[in-house]
Amino acid sequence: MLTAGSSPTLNERIARTLILAGTRRPVVKSISRVPDPKIDQLYSQEIGRNSTSGLLPSSLEWFTKTHRIQVHGALVLLAYHRIYKSCVSIQGIMPDSIPRVAFTRTLTWYHEICGGQDKAIISAQRLYTLIRTFADAQSISPRGNEAAEIKLHHCAACKIPLIIPRHYSEYHCTDHKPKSRRGSKA
Ligand SMILES: [Zn+2]
Repeated sequence: MLTAGSSPTLNERIARTLILAGTRRPVVKSISRVPDPKIDQLYSQEIGRNSTSGLLPSSLEWFTKTHRIQVHGALVLLAYHRIYKSCVSIQGIMPDSIPRVAFTRTLTWYHEICGGQDKAIISAQRLYTLIRTFADAQSISPRGNEAAEIKLHHCAACKIPLIIPRHYSEYHCTDHKPKSRRGSKA
């Protein structure tokens, strides 16, 4: 996208939105591709401090920890899929910017439906891990990412979408969980 004078670039706007959404620096950098000094400037300008540090959460197993997380993960992936597709039709957007814009919009949308970033059970960092695992909208299918230990699936009884461990061929949500077992291994 073309910008004039000192108005922020698309990347800077992405970085700003992510910082305001509580996103940590490595993810802001990876998504926005804004240079370090500018990221520093944006952190102090927008939230008055630097990013919190420490290792980023990378566990995919975490997304199958509780029923609520499984549902939230599936919801976010489905939303990303939809938002990604709608970004493709935006005029003037470069193809390589689409995943970045889609991620940023998905995060904003997710915080909106959670009632604020403090109430979101999946952090921006974990959301990044989840979406990156499924790489792009095309790979978000029942087969998912073959290399990952999780997949987007659904309850065998009520069909609600859930993130589940890859090795299950059949899985039940909390309401439909059979008494003796949680699912059938493939
Ligand atoms: Zn169910």
